[in-house]
Amino acid sequence: MAQVKIEQVRKAYGDNEVLHGVDIDIPHGSFTILVGPSGCGKSTLLRMIAGLEAISGGEIIIGDKVVNDISSPERDIAMVFQNYALYPHLTVAQNMGFSLKVAKVPKAEIDTKVKDAAKMLGLTEYLSRRPQKLSGGQRQRVAMGRAIVRDPSVFLFDEPLSNLDAKMRGQMRTELRSMHRRLGSTMIYVTHDQIEAMTMADQIVVMNDGYAQQIGAPLEIYDRPQNLFVASFIGAPAMNFLKAKAEGGQVHLTDGTPLQIKVEDHVTGDIVVGIRPEHLVLNSTGSLKLIVDEVEPTGSETHISATTSIGIPVKLVTTDRVTVEAGETLAAGYEADKLHLFDAETTNRIETL
Ligand code: ADP
Ligand code: MG
Repeated sequence: MAQVKIEQVRKAYGDNEVLHGVDIDIPHGSFTILVGPSGCGKSTLLRMIAGLEAISGGEIIIGDKVVNDISSPERDIAMVFQNYALYPHLTVAQNMGFSLKVAKVPKAEIDTKVKDAAKMLGLTEYLSRRPQKLSGGQRQRVAMGRAIVRDPSVFLFDEPLSNLDAKMRGQMRTELRSMHRRLGSTMIYVTHDQIEAMTMADQIVVMNDGYAQQIGAPLEIYDRPQNLFVASFIGAPAMNFLKAKAEGGQVHLTDGTPLQIKVEDHVTGDIVVGIRPEHLVLNSTGSLKLIVDEVEPTGSETHISATTSIGIPVKLVTTDRVTVEAGETLAAGYEADKLHLFDAETTNRIETL
C-alpha cells in the first residue's frame, strides 16, 4: 500500500524558509493535486517527496517507510516534469524503455512493458518514430509512458500539461483521469491551474506562501473555502467580495443593505461577504443595485461585469440568454445559503446559522 504521509515538513534554503510545516495525508490510490500560485512551494514539496531535495524538518513517509534518508532511485516513485526532455535520437519505444534498460531488465520484459504502456496511451503506431515527429500531446504521452513502464508505487507530476495548447490540455486531463483509474496507483500532481485541480483530483491541497491552506475534495473546497485565500483562488470567474459589518447576529453591507443571513451574536465587526458569480441572480426585486460595465456571452453562459452602488466591481454568471447592455442598471439578488462569510482580520471562514 503506497500511501504517502507528509508530516510537519519544512524546507529552508539558507535562512529563507519556503515551507513552514506542511501536513498532508495521501491515501493509497488517491489522485492528490497540490495547487497554488507560482512560488508557493509546490515543486519544492514534490521534489522532496521524489528525493531530489533534502528535507529541512519533519518526515515524509511512503508506504510505511520514512524516506527522509532514502535515495531517490530507491523510493519506488516515477516523476513526470513539465519539461519532459525526451531523447531526440531514440525512438518512442526506446525512450519509454530507457530506464528499464539502464536497470538491466531483460529485453523481452522491456518490450512487453513498453507495448502495454503504449496501448494504454494510444501510442502503439508511433513506437518506432522519433520525438520530433510527434505532436506536443503525443510527446507528453511518451513522457507518461516512461513513468508507467517503471510501475512505481507513486507517480509524481510537476505541471506536465503547461506546454500544451488549451484543447490538448483538456483532452490530457481526461486521459490522465482514466489512466489513474486503470492503474489504481497513488498520484501526486502539481499545478497552478485551479481548473486542472478541480477536474482531476480526488483530493486538493490548496497551497500559499509555504502553507497548506486547505485540504479536501474539490467540491468540498469549492462549497466551503476555509479562508479568503482559498475562496479567491478556487473558482473561475473568481468569487466576488463585498465589505460588511456584523452586529447582534445580523449582517449588513457597508452601504447599509441588510443580508438575509444570521451569525452567532459574538461575531461583530468587519467581515467580508463572498458571493460566487453564479450565485448572484438577476432579479428585479433583488437588493443589490448594479451598473453593467461589460457583457460577455460565451454561448453556454453570459458573464456580466458590473459595479455596485459603492463602486465595487462584481461578476455575475447566468445560463439565461439575457439582453442587457453596458451602462444599464440591474437589480440582483443572491442565494442566501450560498453566501460565504470571512473575518476581515483573520481572513478565516465564519459559519452562518
Ligand atoms: P512553485 O513550484 O509553487 O512555483 P517552488 O517550490 O519552485 O514554487 O519555489 C518555492 C520558493 O522556494 C520560491 O520562493 C523559490 O524562489 C524558492 N526556491 C526554490 N528553489 C530554490 C533554490 N534551489 N534555492 C533557493 N530558493 C529556492
Ligand atoms: Mg513549480
